Amino acid sequence: MIPQRKIAHIDMDCFYAAIEIRDNPSLQGKPVAVGGDSSRRGVLCTCNYEARKFGVHSALPTSQAFKLCPQLILMPVDMPRYKAESMKISEIIHRFTERVEPLSLDEAYLDLTGSSHFQGSATLTVQAIRKLIQDELHLAASGGVAPNKFLAKIASDWKKPNGFFAITPEMIPEFVKNLPVGKIPGVGKVMESRLSAIGLKACADLQSFGRDNLVRKFGGMGFRLFDLCRGIDDEPVVTDWIRKSLSVEDTFAQDIQGAELCLAELSKIYQEFLRRLARQEDNPVQIGGRNQLFVKIKYGDFRQTTIERSFPSLDFTYFQDLFFERYGTSPKPIRLLGLGLRWPDPLDSRQLRFDLDTRETEDRVIEITF
Ligand SMILES: [Mg+2]
Repeated sequence: MIPQRKIAHIDMDCFYAAIEIRDNPSLQGKPVAVGGDSSRRGVLCTCNYEARKFGVHSALPTSQAFKLCPQLILMPVDMPRYKAESMKISEIIHRFTERVEPLSLDEAYLDLTGSSHFQGSATLTVQAIRKLIQDELHLAASGGVAPNKFLAKIASDWKKPNGFFAITPEMIPEFVKNLPVGKIPGVGKVMESRLSAIGLKACADLQSFGRDNLVRKFGGMGFRLFDLCRGIDDEPVVTDWIRKSLSVEDTFAQDIQGAELCLAELSKIYQEFLRRLARQEDNPVQIGGRNQLFVKIKYGDFRQTTIERSFPSLDFTYFQDLFFERYGTSPKPIRLLGLGLRWPDPLDSRQLRFDLDTRETEDRVIEITF
């Protein structure tokens, strides 16, 4: 059995504006935005909820924001200060897990699968993180927990601001039914109106549309839509560790099909994988706990998919489970099979971050901090 994943998404509420208001209490209760000056055709980075009541939102040109809300208080962007706060938030999160994928200064995914904190409760862990951020930094964070990244991000948005929501595996079928298609990652305004034009407004509509129709209409994205509208998303949380990986793959002279044949091929690939692993100098399996196993499948139609997850040890049955979890829903001809292992560099991740901070450009720093 593959362990059910527990993914969390933490998202600070109006992050830049919240920092400005915290550090300048006279701004409390007033509409506040952070952004570029209107005389220089600036746009807003963030605004608080008081400003949002006037229709002001991020990415809005500052000049328009003042038309909507003349009493808006505009603060200049102070990136070094926001980055410093982001590092403090990252430090709080790292007290609970190192499996963190930062999305920007104010958002991150956490993989809490198999966590030892709070008897493995992702909900209690996220609530503790939110409380520490509030108590130590006086900033509000929203949090969400779900079995995958797609739903975790939706969950953190569900009770915003300063809210928490968990989507359990049992809740998924009901929850996604009414979810508007615009909430699906990768579905932008253009795609949303294309879907809407053919009557596909909620995930339930997409579910009844069928895989073949989705692929015919939307190409490769159709496969992803097929999964996402059912609440399925296997994207791994990609941490900022420097990771090593070892993998073996095989392209077949002729496409193979059927569970038995695929399993036989997968087993051969695994044997070769073990041989190569044995030649590795520092055998990563000793590290334990953080090993990510993955299976790669390329179908006859060249569509490629990788499913990856962390497991407590290295065992063929885990690869087998990963393979069938993905292949089971689409038993089609396969052109290539691969499997492998990624493991973290034993280097401490915080030390690593420090090194990069001092060497890399500003943009890179944004990517690797919280
Ligand atoms: Mg945010």
